[in-house]
Amino acid sequence: DLATLLGVSVNEVISKCLSFGMFIAINQRLDAEAITFIADEFGYEVEFISAEEETSIQLEQEDKEEDLVSRAPIVTIMGHVDHGKTSLLDYIRKTNVTQGEAGGITQHIGAYDVVTSSGKRITFLDTPGHEAFTAMRARGAKVTDIAVIVIAADDSVMPQTVEAINHAQVAGVPMVFAINKIDKPDANPNKIKEALANMNILVEDWGGKYQCQELSAKKGIGVEDLLEKILLEAEFLDLKANPKKNATGTVIEASLDKGKGYLATVLVQSGTLKIGDMVLAGSHYGKVKAMLDYRGNKLTKAGPSMPVQILGLNGAPQAGDKFNVTTEREAKEIATRREQLLREQGIRAIKRTTLNELGRRIALGFKQLNIIVKADVDGSVEALSDSLLKLSKEEVEVRIIHKGVGQISEADVTLATTADAIIIGFQVRPSANARKLADKESVEIRLYSIIYDAINDVKDALEGMLAPTI
Ligand code: GDP
Repeated sequence: DLATLLGVSVNEVISKCLSFGMFIAINQRLDAEAITFIADEFGYEVEFISAEEETSIQLEQEDKEEDLVSRAPIVTIMGHVDHGKTSLLDYIRKTNVTQGEAGGITQHIGAYDVVTSSGKRITFLDTPGHEAFTAMRARGAKVTDIAVIVIAADDSVMPQTVEAINHAQVAGVPMVFAINKIDKPDANPNKIKEALANMNILVEDWGGKYQCQELSAKKGIGVEDLLEKILLEAEFLDLKANPKKNATGTVIEASLDKGKGYLATVLVQSGTLKIGDMVLAGSHYGKVKAMLDYRGNKLTKAGPSMPVQILGLNGAPQAGDKFNVTTEREAKEIATRREQLLREQGIRAIKRTTLNELGRRIALGFKQLNIIVKADVDGSVEALSDSLLKLSKEEVEVRIIHKGVGQISEADVTLATTADAIIIGFQVRPSANARKLADKESVEIRLYSIIYDAINDVKDALEGMLAPTI
């Protein structure tokens, strides 16, 4: 198959491989790296697409410039535990339910949209924290337009705050800072701004580019101002979508209700979703029988940036799955094909960066080694990170995409999957769940009790990976 794609004979491919010491048989399944390498030898560049992408391409519809209209920003709230993410989400949700609407009772469906006092819409993903954010990104879903980072003014920039900031930065998602709990007597917003400045994040009133709002989620002080700042950020992004086509978007969450059947909350990202549409999500499909928003209102259609709970799928898709609208025949066909592709991919092991593999990878053009550093004390985190950064060479750059004090967590492993990073732990261990996930996702975790050993291993690996100079 590869030879045909490259327009050469099978023998040419085999003999080319032989000349590099790679012995391959005609019916052998090649891994991604080998394919990239061989294609490169014949002057081709390879682009890999997921099973979902392959089967979605035929469903894509072109947008005409004149059909694009502005859409509401989609916001995720992240930050350290107990800094007030849930309180902020609850406050915004409650204050924006107009009286009389389903008795003002709201339900958690995974996302909600509000209209601010200035009459503009904002959509919030209703799962506080970065777990959902990274889990979606790990599945290739790009949903969040803006991240709100909540920091309690009576506390400080904490490990999960740093983690949240790193997640947003790796994803290239702009951040707005919310300094919460200013009603507390010991609140000190300036201390927070200073800590941010020390991380090279200058907020606006300190002459920087990051918008920042002091607020109290409990008393509601400053929340409207935060919403206006989110809208300002959205204006810079110039978010647009075409409502005049079949809907596409992302699954936010799904569940099975004993009475109603499968429920899925989807976020429409483009097009308009209507009752009666045949929806294909992951490897499940079904006709939309009913659509509800978080207020329990029945809807007949939902346009771009609208989160809605739909009824009618024949199974529960996963959060982060893309959805499309198509015909029943096509939905069935693609769902079956996806299941088959997923099974095949499950059999083939995923290849991720490991130190031992670096030499081979650089020969294939690998240029950046991403590392997550976790250690028992801050001094070690800094010492280890600094030394590792200094190992960067012209050919290969070392990047510390996240560092922190404490156990290696599931969130660390998820970040490693999205950024194809390795994790180095010094005097710390992974949690049981982190280890399980790392095994499943083939993420390399290296544990050390001597800093020098860690540095030396990375140094050796980098030297092994250096391209030969002439
Ligand atoms: P999360 O873990 O980040 O979701 O934090 P929560 O929203 O659960 O808040 C943690 C605690 O802080 C709760 O006891 C809240 O009542 C309290 N809290 C949240 N926001 C404020 C605030 O603006 N002022 C005060 N005084 N307490 C707050």
